[in-house]
Amino acid sequence: MSRGLVSIIGAGPGDPELITVKALKRIQSADVIMYDRLVTDELIAEARDGALRIYCGKAPGLHSMSQEMIGRMLASHAAEGKHVVRLKGGDPFIFGRGGEEALMLAESGIPYEIIPGITSAVGTSASSLIPLTHRGVASSFACVTGTGSDGTVSSVRWDLLAHSVDTLVIYMGISQLSQIQQELLRHGKAGHTPAALIERGTTSEERIVTGTLAELQTLADRHRICNPALIMVGESVLIREQLLQMQRAASASMTG
Ligand code: SAH
Repeated sequence: MSRGLVSIIGAGPGDPELITVKALKRIQSADVIMYDRLVTDELIAEARDGALRIYCGKAPGLHSMSQEMIGRMLASHAAEGKHVVRLKGGDPFIFGRGGEEALMLAESGIPYEIIPGITSAVGTSASSLIPLTHRGVASSFACVTGTGSDGTVSSVRWDLLAHSVDTLVIYMGISQLSQIQQELLRHGKAGHTPAALIERGTTSEERIVTGTLAELQTLADRHRICNPALIMVGESVLIREQLLQMQRAASASMTG
């Protein structure tokens, strides 16, 4: 019996066209597709007719399938000689638990491969016109989680992040927004630092709101920002404002 293969794949940030060619080919040829909540239906529709599609979605607070169960299913389908695609939003190794799944497969001696995806920070940076780095404005960025494994505000070093990183991108931060805001302010990040919230980035439902660090919670409440959303904090948020102003000026001069 052949040993099968598990391809742990990043589906990209939301826009189905932002998947890699390699990942799409794997979806089209797989026998089994196990996919997460953030993966769009359009990509699942690429699977061949006979492929088995298994939803492993994890809505916040609700775990429809445990990580252990997912690992066992991946291993058992692969052990039957099947090609299994494990499809995750963004990149599998960035807050995607892809590493845990690879470890489980390695322990069971199941062949696997990792195919990267555009992580949501990179996808939404492009779609929101907020560069993660920008000459003279931002020479570093960091991606951190806003929520710890116990469900409360993450224990990343907010004190260091407040000072040592130019563009800060916070995943899974909306439910902890007021604590994150307080942590950064408490550690001396200026309240007037430009900030943005990006909901469903790169999709047709994308919403972007901008303001300052001090206003973040108010903005989120006013616009009812929901997951999936990212928080971006840093001066390069102003590049978006500049680009939008120039677009407006250009369209005004064309119509005027
Ligand atoms: N592996 C994924 C991250 C999964 S963690 C990646 O590489 O992007 C889930 C978090 O990702 C969400 O809480 C949200 O903060 C972020 N996220 C994922 N897709 C997003 C999108 N389209 N727009 C904004 N944030 C997104």
